[in-house]
Amino acid sequence: MDKVAVVTGGSRGIGRAIALELAVQGFKVAVNYRSQEAQAQKVVETIRGMGGEAMAVQAHVASNRDVEEMAKRVKEAWGFVGVLVNNAGITKDNILVRMKEEEWDQVLETNLKGVFLCSRIFIKDMMKARWGRIVSISSVIGMMGNPGQTNYAASKAGLVGFTRALAKEVASRGITVNAVAPGYIETEMTQGLSQKVKEAMLGTIPLGRFGSPEEVAKLVSFLVSSHGGYITGQVLVVDGGITL
Ligand code: NDP
Repeated sequence: MDKVAVVTGGSRGIGRAIALELAVQGFKVAVNYRSQEAQAQKVVETIRGMGGEAMAVQAHVASNRDVEEMAKRVKEAWGFVGVLVNNAGITKDNILVRMKEEEWDQVLETNLKGVFLCSRIFIKDMMKARWGRIVSISSVIGMMGNPGQTNYAASKAGLVGFTRALAKEVASRGITVNAVAPGYIETEMTQGLSQKVKEAMLGTIPLGRFGSPEEVAKLVSFLVSSHGGYITGQVLVVDGGITL
């Protein structure tokens, strides 16, 4: 059977690194994106250039219609999807007293409802196959909190509860469900931070540097491989020691 993986938000940053790493491990990779098709296509071309197989699939992960359409397209092209990486995520930072309802809703919808909808659609076939791997990208912010990120922290902590509950629900079917919680990783999401904020952050990281998307991707790749088969319901932290 072909190894097929769907990576939500696979068009840039951490998702891109995960898509490339899974392709290196022999997966056919569906690179999901919401709006930036050109970036997703670039990832697809890179994978094809490496001799792998990939396709770009547009879907807003918080729209059940989009998610159903995405699942249908991937299944029609490649059959059984054994690996789902819930990576798509956004931030809309604001202190709580100023936080708009839309800022709360958009973050919770993409980061948490998106994980629910994508997991729900792909797990059906995993249950039938009695094999599957789901990895969702949480964040150390869900454990530590951060001023201005109540919405983001709630979504990322919520994802951990979801992971543990689902892991118990489907363990008897040979499906593992885990979360990976990165610390500060250099991507577009963190690029916007000022030099001053970055320097202050560096001072709090025992390893004294930011992480790379590839360092997160290697862990995800391990979890979905046969070596990760006895790990389920866990939150694995990749953070240079920031949560110590
Ligand atoms: P980026 O902002 O670089 O990339 C986000 C990706 O998600 C893009 O591919 C984007 O596609 C996609 N995306 C956003 N919203 C949606 C949506 N509604 N539906 C489908 N796709 C969507 O993010 P990062 O690579 O930095 O982060 C990836 C994940 O890792 C996120 O969940 C983030 O919370 C988490 N994380 C990141 C950390 C960091 O330091 N960077 C630290 C801890 C966790 P498009 O461009 O088309 O919208």
